[in-house]
Amino acid sequence: MTLLTPDICVIGAGSGGLSVAAAAAAFGVPVVLIERGKMGGDCLNYGCVPSKALIAAGKQAHLMGNGAAFGIAPAEAEVNFRQVMQHVEATIAAIAPNDSVERFTALGVQVIQEEARFKDARTVTAGDYEIRARRFVIATGSSPLVPPIPGLEDVPFLTNDTIFSQTRRPSHLIIIGGGPIGMELAQAHRRLGCKVTVVEALSALGKDDPELTAFALARIREEGVTVLEHTKVTQVSKRGRTGVRVHIEDADGARTTDGSHLLIAAGRTPNIEALDLDRAGITHDRRGITVSDKLRTKNRRVYAIGDVAGGLQFTHVAGYHAGLVVRALLFRLNARENRTIIPWATYTDPEIAHVGLSEEEARKHHRRISILRWPYSENDRAQTERKTEGLIKLVTDRKGRILGASIAGANASEMISFWALAISQKLGVRDVAGYIAPYPTMTEIGKRAAITYFTETTRKPLVRALVRFLRRFG
Ligand SMILES: Cc1cc2nc3c(=O)[nH]c(=O)nc-3n(C[C@H](O)[C@H](O)[C@H](O)COP(=O)(O)OP(=O)(O)OC[C@H]3O[C@@H](n4cnc5c(N)ncnc54)[C@H](O)[C@@H]3O)c2cc1C
Repeated sequence: MTLLTPDICVIGAGSGGLSVAAAAAAFGVPVVLIERGKMGGDCLNYGCVPSKALIAAGKQAHLMGNGAAFGIAPAEAEVNFRQVMQHVEATIAAIAPNDSVERFTALGVQVIQEEARFKDARTVTAGDYEIRARRFVIATGSSPLVPPIPGLEDVPFLTNDTIFSQTRRPSHLIIIGGGPIGMELAQAHRRLGCKVTVVEALSALGKDDPELTAFALARIREEGVTVLEHTKVTQVSKRGRTGVRVHIEDADGARTTDGSHLLIAAGRTPNIEALDLDRAGITHDRRGITVSDKLRTKNRRVYAIGDVAGGLQFTHVAGYHAGLVVRALLFRLNARENRTIIPWATYTDPEIAHVGLSEEEARKHHRRISILRWPYSENDRAQTERKTEGLIKLVTDRKGRILGASIAGANASEMISFWALAISQKLGVRDVAGYIAPYPTMTEIGKRAAITYFTETTRKPLVRALVRFLRRFG
């Protein structure tokens, strides 16, 4: 055994762990980084990057068949699925050097390519190494949750770990789970020529505001994806040599649907099983490691960040956590996590994005709120591009401070950054109404929504005065 005594030991070289290691090394702090799988973690290898590359290919195919409104004759896209997957692979390969062992070693990080586990409260082992660091950061991410469906152990199924290395197009892909991952992959596969069925026990895209998800769901259904909501999978069985039969049950009763491939996209489970957390006195539950709002675990030497910390599971959250922990470890600045400033986006077409409080949450915490809306159809740029489906919905407090913003429509994932800044800086509708957006852009939609605050609030006293007048003299 070789004993290492760095200042910081990071476990997991995904979005969170890499950011901590790079920042620590940049400040000359001795850091060891342990990774048991591929450098770059889920986001680069099995998550964000391959899924967005596949979505981009699907979009390209879709555009070819949908030019008629512009006067461009539709052409049927000839999809070569193997080459589509080569595009996905090439995209990962183009980004991979940024996350590589070579780059991190050059930055001054000692990278150990082994599985890490705690030996005791202050020691981690990894292969032939024993690491006794001043502080540990657990950034081990999450894995696909495989639900206990009868028959699943006998049926071949895909998860996000395996679907991006498929080289043959599934003829009928059945997806269990209608969350963002399931719905993004459903639409992308449909556009690449697969028949797709999604089975969701509750509502599809149920974590977002139904007023906004309605736009994406309508479009995905129009494009030919069968989305079965409030439908339970009761059993799966083999059909033929490689196919699958899925037994489902909804309010109308039980039936089966047959597919060529099965994708499980039914949630995530934290990667904690290999860590021996109990030996280090680190508490955890099924959502992940228990952390304070400063991301500290029960063991004060140890922090946990990203997916494994059991909160919002996004790459930018892992990056945000990394920033907070670096500040605490390097500069003793004890910043707390603020979930209300964290945006998220779902990359369906149209996209859905959100930051801050939803209407429902705002009603719980504030006595009087305003809901401001502006549709894409009232925006000139959206008209020129024929992307008129969608809506911006803002939630403000009584004084017009922006509490939340949700967008469904083209470029929602880009446009939400503006509102993330507005909320993090505690801006109000006056600030948004006062800035100038270039014309014609879709960002004007948000400005128009903000301006409705004034038309609403100036109208209200007039209405109230009218009601008072009528009560007295009417
Ligand atoms: C299909 C899909 C699409 C997604 N799309 C998006 C998106 O568009 N935008 C977005 O923001 N997020 C997206 N996500 C989520 C995003 O991938 C994760 O939130 C992000 O990767 C979390 O980063 P992390 O650092 O916590 O963990 P990870 O990136 O998963 O890294 C954890 C690393 O730890 C390693 N590890 C685990 N246990 C050990 C151990 N005991 N010893 C050593 N190493 C260990 C793992 O091998 C892994 O490399 C998507 C996820 C999926 C599955």
